[in-house]
Amino acid sequence: MFRAAKRVLTALAVIAIILLAYQFFFARPVEITKGEEYHTHADFAVFLNGQKLNFSKKEFMSKETCGKPGEEHKIDLNTEEGMAEAAHLHDLNGNVVHFHHENATLAMFFGNIGFSLSKDCLETKENKYCNTDFKKLKVFANGLQVINIENYVPKDLDKLLVTYGEESASEVRAQNEQITSQACIYSKKCPIPSGFVLPPEACT
Ligand SMILES: [Zn+2]
Ligand SMILES: [Zn+2]
Repeated sequence: MFRAAKRVLTALAVIAIILLAYQFFFARPVEITKGEEYHTHADFAVFLNGQKLNFSKKEFMSKETCGKPGEEHKIDLNTEEGMAEAAHLHDLNGNVVHFHHENATLAMFFGNIGFSLSKDCLETKENKYCNTDFKKLKVFANGLQVINIENYVPKDLDKLLVTYGEESASEVRAQNEQITSQACIYSKKCPIPSGFVLPPEACT
């Protein structure tokens, strides 16, 4: 009787060790990789002299190359390729910027779509919009003016407004209200509204 109980206990101990080993060697590394992935989204809009730009065009979309599934993919912000991977648009949606690196700046995103954002100028593919005595370049995050335009690192679900011109504070507020609320859908922090198709993301 005593021996039988001992055998059962030994068997249980062996099973427990196998389960722990499985957890340690197989289950854990997957979790670690997942936790390290950085993937946030921000709604944005650009107004130039009161005109909203349309970024829902193929020319603005990401042509990024992704790492192999399950393989850890490090983004190096010191390379042009790394910067392109860190902040971009997907799926012909010109309202939501995808960020894949915690240090990716808003200026980096504009660089990736062929624009250039500095503290005094926004340069598009066609024109340069710089501060004058009357017309000013301003950036707002969630309705608050960003002072350090060049170094601003957007946070998940930010609403970003880049505006150039001589608009009043109330006009800026009206522009701000035109920013979409789609980042939370992509970040899976709000329900998918009916009629909205959430595309599977190539680099998740
Ligand atoms: Zn995304
Ligand atoms: Zn992406």
